[in-house]
Amino acid sequence: MVDALVDAVHAAYPRLSHRYYSMKAKWLGLDTLMHYDRNALLPKADDRKIPWDEAKATVLNAYSRFSPDMAGIAERFFDNNWIDAPVRPGKAPGAFAHPTVPSAHPYVLVNYQGKTRDVMTLAHELGHGVHQVLAGPNGALMAPTPLTLAETASVFGKMLTFRSLLNSAKDDHTRKIMLASKVKDMINTVVRQITFYTFEYRVHLERREGELISDRLGEI
Ligand SMILES: [Zn+2]
Repeated sequence: MVDALVDAVHAAYPRLSHRYYSMKAKWLGLDTLMHYDRNALLPKADDRKIPWDEAKATVLNAYSRFSPDMAGIAERFFDNNWIDAPVRPGKAPGAFAHPTVPSAHPYVLVNYQGKTRDVMTLAHELGHGVHQVLAGPNGALMAPTPLTLAETASVFGKMLTFRSLLNSAKDDHTRKIMLASKVKDMINTVVRQITFYTFEYRVHLERREGELISDRLGEI
């Protein structure tokens, strides 16, 4: 299964990431895209600040259009203060949903700063949260899931929210920027992770034969 996944992603490099990165190089006025520019913001990206209440409404409406039950579970996170949202000194960076134990309830941590991607992150973590609530009745031994399954729920919640943000985009230009950034995220989720995997796989294979010096690591 892993080999099939890796082969499929490798085979798709030319028509997905290679094509996207050469388009992106053109948008940025470069001949070749450097590694550090892969995630550069596109010119004229929407930088409006989205208030927390609007983010909440966006995610709940998007969820509700798919399933009112799903939105109802997500709403509990807001009503019961299960989300640590604001940025403050000393707080852990990033975002996660922690299931704690099935007899309690999950907690979500985000660092909300009002960017479109922060709304998506909220939608992502609440996808985990809803899944964790629904998996709770399976009990402490059966509720936890492998990452592959866990990310299905969160990416799904995020896609629902992306769809609804896209539908309400103010013009075509904004829609294109949003789609470009979604493609970038998908490439990061799938292609980049496979390249990390491929790198580590090769390193471990060669390390079996002896020590690796930094130059060799660089070549790999
Ligand atoms: Zn996740």
